Amino acid sequence: MPRPALRSRKLRRTSMKTPGGRHVVHYEKRFSSKPRCAICGRPLSGIDMARVKTRHIAGLTVSRPYGGYICHRCLALGLRLAVRLSSA
Ligand SMILES: [Zn+2]
Repeated sequence: MPRPALRSRKLRRTSMKTPGGRHVVHYEKRFSSKPRCAICGRPLSGIDMARVKTRHIAGLTVSRPYGGYICHRCLALGLRLAVRLSSA
């Protein structure tokens, strides 16, 4: 039985084989998945994976409006739609 802190599913479990042939369980930090566009679902580019993995603010991200949330194609489309709807 692992120690109490390791019994929760907070940590990811990976099965390892040691050089001696034993199978042991290693506990690793869970990483969140690669960020995706909220509208089209494509993976977002320009975002530092260190930012995703550590969930810290440090690290490169996209500085345009809605950067890191929707992709550049969806933003361009949304801006065009907004301008057309407001002028009409
Ligand atoms: Zn998109």
